[in-house]
Amino acid sequence: MTQQRFGKVIRLFAPLYLSNECINNCQYCGFSRDNPILRVTLSLDEVRREAAALRKQGFRNILLVAGEHPKFVSVNYLRECIAALHADWPGVSIEVAPMETEAYCELVAAGADGLVVYQETYDRKVYAAMHTAGPKRNFDWRLETPERAYAAGFRRLGISPLYGLADWRYEAICVAAHADYLLRNCWKAALTISTVRIRPCAGEFQPLTHIGDRELAQLICALRIMFPDVGLVLSTRESPKLRNGLLPLGITLMSAGSHTEPGGYTGAGREKLHQTVRGRIVGPVIPLPPKPRISGQGASEWASAPENATAATAQFQIADERSSQEVADLIKRLGYEPVWKDWDAALTA
Ligand code: SF4
Repeated sequence: MTQQRFGKVIRLFAPLYLSNECINNCQYCGFSRDNPILRVTLSLDEVRREAAALRKQGFRNILLVAGEHPKFVSVNYLRECIAALHADWPGVSIEVAPMETEAYCELVAAGADGLVVYQETYDRKVYAAMHTAGPKRNFDWRLETPERAYAAGFRRLGISPLYGLADWRYEAICVAAHADYLLRNCWKAALTISTVRIRPCAGEFQPLTHIGDRELAQLICALRIMFPDVGLVLSTRESPKLRNGLLPLGITLMSAGSHTEPGGYTGAGREKLHQTVRGRIVGPVIPLPPKPRISGQGASEWASAPENATAATAQFQIADERSSQEVADLIKRLGYEPVWKDWDAALTA
């Protein structure tokens, strides 16, 4: 079914983290405001450097990610970042704090065309327990985000729960209902659904519920059968072995070679690492030379002490550390074509 609708191709994208500042407390996220992590917000030049490194790898689809902090990640800042990349990047998506439609209009005018917003959990009780401080406590405001983005002109929308909070079957039924609603009401946009599971991060949050590899495969197949035209996204949260196996089961979009910390691709911003207390920067922190990444690193090692600083703290630990080229080669070996660019502004009527 996937090959009939999408061809035998896998689209590739990379996340570019702009900032790990955040005013929310989300129990499952390393960027939570109460975690004593090393933070940084990239300057425009640093964003350009990071994007250039990704472009050199071949990517033409980029996802700009940032925590929610209006002081550091303002609409104006995001607009400038998008405008700085627009000429070189045919696909610019954002995964940032939910906004009003008017703000989204500014970002679309600057060149953004995709918006990703995870509801995290569709269970209101669990949602309330997981979001203990900050504007993200408002469940409905978040749930209605894709519609505000659509009204502003985003042509690609991405949704998902974060599996590991409420029961996965409940989340699956809810995300299906949400997707069905969006397909009827935001029908001009292309919709994607991600299948993201909780990963180790600062704060040492442990998943509340379990979804195994077998259930994840079942979920992907069920979503494909129910929504033949919806893109299904698989991130580097999953291991290489599992990603290789899931790839032919309905996946259309994969991230590769990802870093989940600002400056992860070039070391940009390393000299201005700091901690943030109640919106105030505490620091600066003197960074040490980078250390090699350790696979299977324990969650407690994430909130590194300032004197051991080598880089901004990542949002979560990725599981597939293969380079983008290695993933592209694997896609080819499986008989698929890796697609780094799937859109050109000239195609817009
Ligand atoms: S999930 Fe988003 S809003 Fe919540 S702490 Fe992490 S970055 Fe902030």
